[in-house]
Amino acid sequence: NETPYPPSPKVVEAVKSAAGEGLRLYPDPECAGLRAAAAKLHGVTPEQVFPGNGSDEVLAFCFQAFFDAERPILFADITYTFYAVYTDYFGLKAWQIPLDEDFSLPVERFCKAENCGGVVIANPNAPTGRSVDLEDIRRVLEEHRDVVVLVDEAYVDFGGVSADTLLKEYDNLVVVRTLSKSRALAGLRVGYALGSPNLISGLCCVRDSINSYTVDRLAQAGAVAALEDRPYFEEMRERVIRTRERTEERLRAMGFAVLESKANFLFVSHPKRTGKALLDGLREQGILVRWFDRPRIGNYLRISVGTDDEMDALCAALKALTEG
Ligand code: PMP
Repeated sequence: NETPYPPSPKVVEAVKSAAGEGLRLYPDPECAGLRAAAAKLHGVTPEQVFPGNGSDEVLAFCFQAFFDAERPILFADITYTFYAVYTDYFGLKAWQIPLDEDFSLPVERFCKAENCGGVVIANPNAPTGRSVDLEDIRRVLEEHRDVVVLVDEAYVDFGGVSADTLLKEYDNLVVVRTLSKSRALAGLRVGYALGSPNLISGLCCVRDSINSYTVDRLAQAGAVAALEDRPYFEEMRERVIRTRERTEERLRAMGFAVLESKANFLFVSHPKRTGKALLDGLREQGILVRWFDRPRIGNYLRISVGTDDEMDALCAALKALTEG
């Protein structure tokens, strides 16, 4: 689920100019510039921003800082696979709530769950691409005011609605973002959490017990440039969204079931071909998609949105594989 387009030229410039004599010095452990840029973007204060070495690291710190082994954390049965990994790794307990038949989030069940120790929601969800609206997030926050509700917004820029506006109202909300997707910077490794100053200082505490310098000088410089280059960002995400919509239409016309996606990928199945057969057939032609050998989704493929040319090649290959 990377982006097929390069990052903003301003990012490359900023990284190049940071790649000099200054590298002999440690980076700013407070990431002041990056925190200020993210704070401005989300309408919060710098004390409400926790940057890290990609959002995976930020998520891991969140699991370590905010959850304990007493009460289970809630997350969906089909969601970002790392949540279950962190749960096991940190000796926590999880309560994995099954998504509805159409893969939508059973918000009611999340709200009704009693005695939970935290909630984690990927919005939009991975690998389905489905999203929940802000009112549903608000309902979950209202029901679980005494624990952290973490919303992982890795893909939100491709059509979802951010919960960052709820940060003013809920001090138990943590929103996690990444620059790997909509800012085309998976290689730079920058993500961040937004939350109340109290929760953010908890994350700093965990980080500083392990490694204070998780975001290096080049990454800090590049990330600031990326967050500040709004026009480039808008243009690129529009392109991805247009290509996604165009591909969605074509796949439907070819008989595929395509879930409505607000992410930079599509989750699709075909009535006459198994997910595995399509995966193998595409691979033979040098086209890589993701297949999960798991209950409920074994017949689906997750397809990252590439360039228009790449998606043309994908559609042509799928046409050949599903005809006849
Ligand atoms: N959250 C979700 C839902 C993801 O799919 C990913 C990407 N694999 C991440 C977080 C982590 O992204 P990164 O570490 O590159 O910021």
